[in-house]
Amino acid sequence: MNEKNTAGRLFVLSGPSGCGKNTVYDGLCEINPDVVQTVSMTTRAPRENEIDGKDYYFVTKEEFFKRVDNGEFLEYVNYGENYYGTLKCEINRLLEAGKTIVMVIEVCGALNIKRAFPDSTSIFLLPPSVEVLSERLRSRGQNSEEDINIRLSIAMDEMKQKDNYDYCVINDDLKTCVDEINAIIQK
Ligand code: ADP
Ligand code: 5GP
Repeated sequence: MNEKNTAGRLFVLSGPSGCGKNTVYDGLCEINPDVVQTVSMTTRAPRENEIDGKDYYFVTKEEFFKRVDNGEFLEYVNYGENYYGTLKCEINRLLEAGKTIVMVIEVCGALNIKRAFPDSTSIFLLPPSVEVLSERLRSRGQNSEEDINIRLSIAMDEMKQKDNYDYCVINDDLKTCVDEINAIIQK
């Protein structure tokens, strides 16, 4: 598939789990009211404070694969023990409405989106170091030690892909990082 990104503008913010993608996205929304995010579908259980339909559409594996069979996903991946995917209807609705979409997804999905939408802009968010990434995953307090180790091991592979992105931004000081990404969006 090779989609034309016609009305809206599409940005993909990607990088290893815990590098700060969602924190940076929240910071972007505070300074740029035009930014919206696609709501992904996942088979993982909701974390405390996560809301169905806002943070994710939370579904069973059976429901997820029914939608895979129906061809409803633009892309989906197996990440750790769960599945995550972007629904075609979500992205088309926001593009047609002329929105500035920032997709917050992992690396395989990000590269698939770049293939489907060659005129989209991909941004890789890097932690200042692997040690800081590990600290951030722990300080978030949302993942078991086993899950953190799986995420760190996936992160090592993901970071090898950073040169395949249009931009790489280090998330050290949060405000500096948000300003840098906002400048990319406003180019
Ligand atoms: P991701 O969405 O990439 O998985 P999160 O946005 O959940 O990552 O961030 C992981 C943890 O790191 C959170 O506890 C968040 O508050 C913290 N964090 C994110 N960015 C920064 C930063 N620039 N400085 C310090 N802590 C940060
Ligand atoms: P988490 O469990 O921390 O919410 O998400 C795990 C990883 O899956 C994160 O890197 C997150 O950005 C990514 N992710 C969330 N939604 C999607 C999606 O729709 N597609 C892909 N490819 N990755 C996603």
